[in-house]
Amino acid sequence: MDKTLAVVAKAFSLALVMVMICSSTAICQDKEDEKSKGMCEQCVKDSLGSLLENPNIVVTKTPCLLCRKGDVNPLLQGKICEACAKAEGICLRCLMPMEAGWPKALDEVATPAADKIVFISDRDGENEVFIMDGDGKNPTQLTFNGANDLDPAVSPDGKFIVFTSKLDKQWDLYLTDIEGKHLRRLTRSGEPELSACWFPDGQRLLFMLQEPAGLSLCAIARDGSEMKALELPEEYKGKAVGFPDISPDGKKIAFVAGEGKAGATWEICVRDEKGEVAQLTKNKVFDSAPCWSPDGKKILYVSNSDLSKEFETDEVWVMDSNGKNAKQLTKNSFLDSNPRWSGDGKKVVFITCRDKAKEGVADIYAMDVSGKNPTNLTKAATKETSPRWVKGASGKKK
Ligand SMILES: [Zn+2]
Ligand SMILES: [Zn+2]
Repeated sequence: MDKTLAVVAKAFSLALVMVMICSSTAICQDKEDEKSKGMCEQCVKDSLGSLLENPNIVVTKTPCLLCRKGDVNPLLQGKICEACAKAEGICLRCLMPMEAGWPKALDEVATPAADKIVFISDRDGENEVFIMDGDGKNPTQLTFNGANDLDPAVSPDGKFIVFTSKLDKQWDLYLTDIEGKHLRRLTRSGEPELSACWFPDGQRLLFMLQEPAGLSLCAIARDGSEMKALELPEEYKGKAVGFPDISPDGKKIAFVAGEGKAGATWEICVRDEKGEVAQLTKNKVFDSAPCWSPDGKKILYVSNSDLSKEFETDEVWVMDSNGKNAKQLTKNSFLDSNPRWSGDGKKVVFITCRDKAKEGVADIYAMDVSGKNPTNLTKAATKETSPRWVKGASGKKK
């Protein structure tokens, strides 16, 4: 192991010297070779040159994130093997698409036959994306990137998952299909992109952009193009806005707005088609994670009714989509959070730390919309978060 590290260190110092020579003479023949090996122009520019592939340097190859065969040369800082990069049409290093547009292969992806739940679990060490049946059976791991994956968002047709990952220095949005195939990266702005949700047409997404000036909402096409800020009234410009969710008819956007400073509260707001915003909660506590019901009549959210116990008393609430008739669905001294509707609107999936045997470690539960009959779906000794219901093809025919 020490030997490998020493070789790697030596290779890097050699490479740095060569890069300096390279840039001073502006002749960099080796970089042309890399382009043909599946790197995008930006990565070719950033790379240390294929001098690193000196046959005298012995390196231990690392597993490809996609096929998981040990074919990736760590000195190239690649994440996937050349064969997978070519098959997916993405850069082997940054995973950005090599060509603009939506690849034909992605149109052939099928909707799962039955309902499923996509979620995040750290049962493999790091937070990765998983999928299981609607009753919690057959959990299957979809991502194997060893980085932190967060906030999965399932496309309305159940075929794709956009998630946030820190696979490459910064939180960026990535897309994979419902089987964990066809991985590609959507954003590379240099600022964190988080908490994406889909427009009902399945063509675009909305997400939270975290710039030094604060949080804002941005839209993007599903191929990663056309990124632009969402227009909000003047009074929301200085605020921190995030955690968007779009109504099933695509006309309204629920989001969370706060002052963006310590001690500030968060409230749930809804932006209508005209761009006007109504504030639905006015309670001086933390309200977050809004989620529209499939019929658009209700909004699930998380509220903390006691500021002094900020992270202990998050509970699941529901209200009418005009902010009326707020009703608390969970009530205990443990965190209950991340609520989402089932595809038929009859159940709510959420996370909870109520299992005392492993305090602080959340499980995924399902309950009736009345808050009754909570059932543990995961029962794992690990942390499970962000359940997202996937409506299967069989459920749609009814
Ligand atoms: Zn591969
Ligand atoms: Zn690249």
